[in-house]
Amino acid sequence: MYAETDTTAPACPLLLGPETSIVDCPYCQSHIMTTVKHTSNTNTHIAAANWSRLCCLCCIPFCSDSAKNADHYCPCCQKYLGTYRK
Ligand SMILES: [Zn+2]
Repeated sequence: MYAETDTTAPACPLLLGPETSIVDCPYCQSHIMTTVKHTSNTNTHIAAANWSRLCCLCCIPFCSDSAKNADHYCPCCQKYLGTYRK
């Protein structure tokens, strides 16, 4: 749901789903389809990357899809728009 709040606050959450979404970019005002990058939680992702050098088997739980978020970006201005979290 959109909340009718300050239009000066682009940080207001957009209606973002787990896949690409059609939204009005708050930064460049374009009507765009978001670019989605699926990522794990940033901290665990970095930790897993470090750990994988030491112990490949230990970090398998970090690779499960259930831990992934969907980061949405504007294809026009490349701005980060928000994250859908499962
Ligand atoms: Zn934009």
